[in-house]
Amino acid sequence: MNTSELSLRERDARVIAEIGRLRFSPLSLVGGRGNRLIEEGGREVLDLSGSAGPAILGYGHPAIVEAVERSVRDMAGASLLLYPNEPAVSLAEELLAITPGEGERRVWFGHSGSDANDCAVRVLQAATRRSRFISFIGSYHGNLSGSMGISGHTAMTHTLPRPGVVLLPYPDPFRPQFSADDVLALLDYQFETTCPPDQVAAIFIEPLMSDGGLIVPPPGFLFGLQERCRRHGIKIVVDEVKVGLGRSGLMHCFQHEGLTPDLVVFGKGLGGGLPLSAVVGPSEIMDHAPAFALLTTAGNPVATAAGGAVLKTIASENLAARSARTGKLFTDGLRALGAKYEMIGDVRGRGLAVGVDLVADRQTREPVPATTTAKIIYRGYQLGAAFTYVGLKANVLEFMPPLTLSEDEAAEGVAIVGQSIEDVLAGKVSDKDVASFMMW
Ligand SMILES: *Cc1c(COP(=O)(O)O)cnc(C)c1O
Repeated sequence: MNTSELSLRERDARVIAEIGRLRFSPLSLVGGRGNRLIEEGGREVLDLSGSAGPAILGYGHPAIVEAVERSVRDMAGASLLLYPNEPAVSLAEELLAITPGEGERRVWFGHSGSDANDCAVRVLQAATRRSRFISFIGSYHGNLSGSMGISGHTAMTHTLPRPGVVLLPYPDPFRPQFSADDVLALLDYQFETTCPPDQVAAIFIEPLMSDGGLIVPPPGFLFGLQERCRRHGIKIVVDEVKVGLGRSGLMHCFQHEGLTPDLVVFGKGLGGGLPLSAVVGPSEIMDHAPAFALLTTAGNPVATAAGGAVLKTIASENLAARSARTGKLFTDGLRALGAKYEMIGDVRGRGLAVGVDLVADRQTREPVPATTTAKIIYRGYQLGAAFTYVGLKANVLEFMPPLTLSEDEAAEGVAIVGQSIEDVLAGKVSDKDVASFMMW
């Protein structure tokens, strides 16, 4: 058959493997503009997910376009492994300037949050001569072997954690099965028994657990954890890949928790859509061994020029403060929907990282079935907004819109979410409609 007769979706199904895709809705793209995605046929859809993070400035932002165009025209293809290039060095300088930390520090560049966390694991193991790590049940640090090995998301139960990893529960204030004190006590007990702390290189922390359910940790928990780890010489790694760079309302999400990380990992929004990640850390760790995290095109001038444009725009447009403001409007709007719909159990987040926890029963807080979440997303798509879900029970609507979202767009988004819930309650979406969009 001539492929021109097929839809993008049909062509996709023939050539791109199902394995590992998260297709939440029938949305197929032919373009993007501002904070909107353009689907096949030309309809514009408000993007409330920022494509899961990279679209931090939306689509076609002139600052990124201009920086990338310039870089593509001159030295695209130049490898940072062989020669320093201006955009990469400038971006590293800028990252060091915006990331708190003392002493000599270095920046490593990669292509994705996954390779950055892989690099962090390897460099920490080599530099500390300790091979164990601590992480959290529900955490997502990436989908390459090293980063998967320190993750605890249910989507990864096909791949075992690295031997020796301790996965702690992440305390969830809405479903307080384990309090902050419980988790700290559990860690102390691990240290006393099966996990001697002098074997532990580092703890990997999501300062706001994203894929595990958009969970804001209880106040003081992460700080207490940092104290415990510091006492034992365990390094603190903060994974800012999804919630960093202004999204939370501050430049770094860990600043809400008063953390002073040893290593900070960036990705997603950093490249504004181009593949780019970074690890920032002390030179005694980062310079530990030459040539052991080499990726030929990492730190390439095109991606790092985009990164420079992203950081410059976040500063010049004051996007962290704007995210706090727009995020509050958006969150308040969603909370107001809670007065109308019992299904909304909790609305939480920081800035423009927002989650809506959907419950079957407000008393027991039992999560809705995943099909219900999927139906709301499907209906949202039909009504003109793109968003996704997260959570170990697939019951949390996730909103990570571009930080450039306007107040009007925030209100538009709230209205669509409300109408989607209304329509799903009225039975306007069937199980069959969402059967192909049940991903995790
Ligand atoms: C998405 C994500 C990663 C992995 O980033 P990729 O770009 O998908 O490799 C790592 N950590 C967190 C917290 C993430 O959300």
